[in-house]
Amino acid sequence: MVKETVKHLNPYVPEMTLAELKKQRGLDKLVRLSANENAFGTSPDVAKALDKWHYADSNLYPDSNAEELRSSIATRFNISPDNLIFGNGLDEIIELLSRVILQPGDEVLDPAPTFSEYQLHAQIEGAKIRTVDLDESGRINLSAMKREVDEKTRMVWICNPNNPTGTFISPQAIQSFLADLPAEVTVIVDEAYIDFTGDKHASVIQLTKQYANLVVLRTFSKAYGLANFRVGFAVCGSPLIDYLQAARLPYNLSTFAEIAATASFKDTDFVDQVVETVIAERKKWEHFLMKAGLPFYDSAANFIFFQVKNGDSKELHEYLLSNGYLLRDGLRDGWLRVTIGKPEDNQAVQELITKFLTN
Ligand SMILES: *Cc1c(COP(=O)(O)O)cnc(C)c1O
Repeated sequence: MVKETVKHLNPYVPEMTLAELKKQRGLDKLVRLSANENAFGTSPDVAKALDKWHYADSNLYPDSNAEELRSSIATRFNISPDNLIFGNGLDEIIELLSRVILQPGDEVLDPAPTFSEYQLHAQIEGAKIRTVDLDESGRINLSAMKREVDEKTRMVWICNPNNPTGTFISPQAIQSFLADLPAEVTVIVDEAYIDFTGDKHASVIQLTKQYANLVVLRTFSKAYGLANFRVGFAVCGSPLIDYLQAARLPYNLSTFAEIAATASFKDTDFVDQVVETVIAERKKWEHFLMKAGLPFYDSAANFIFFQVKNGDSKELHEYLLSNGYLLRDGLRDGWLRVTIGKPEDNQAVQELITKFLTN
């Protein structure tokens, strides 16, 4: 009745809605610091742009090419508009890449731990997943990954900064990795959190002009604060971009999504402000964790992955939730991931952790 591979899936478990969880827990206030959402919302220009939309156009299909958004992004990144493809969230692009590239028996190389969706789609296509552990500083171990590449390898995933560790590897390191890799191996660099590095030279988008087997992924869900609108994109060269376009669903972005993404993309002041605040709050978190004696990885993202000693991470998770703060657990035994929130919420969570540890 269904594909054999689908019978054994380990699906992504989406977050429960805040309203649902609040009701279930009988909480008046609940702040979600578990999904890496932008705690500072989105640009006010988004609402202004959407207000101008005519509901009379509801019966018309959206622009299949998302021309306005496409040309804004192409101009900013100095790339050809033809080297961009949009998805209903980056999630759809991750699915599309696996669908277009992988055949049963192919192999995919994944760092471990990393974003779980890479595995999900490889599994559906019947590919075999091989994982390579992060190094002791929580960074993706490119030299170990290189050693694992063989004649069956078709895809290598590099999440940079990596989710859930937040660790960053340099564009130079990625370029050396690409340098003598067989052209049949597609390297996908997921830059969902790249803005939070605060470094304008952190991206490898420009390398797509040089390496036809490199795909760079971006999303509007994190720094741009548009998770609800579902817009992500990939940058890559020919011929892969043409195959991806051919396999894409024709109307995968609504006009609403395109308008919102374009407006948020143009408001660079908003994103710069968000990044500045996140970086300042991240430093405070690191300072706090150091003082509390909780090990953590060096993060370049809008979240921090930390270890709760004595293995009581489940208890701490429960304690914080009962006090109105939801963190992410279940990614690694004894560890929690916290999204960097508003300053007052970060402080409140830190105070609760201190209380928990001293009790
Ligand atoms: C959040 C996230 C995505 C998904 O982004 P959407 O555009 O919301 O689908 C992709 N990759 C990583 C690493 C993420 O953390």
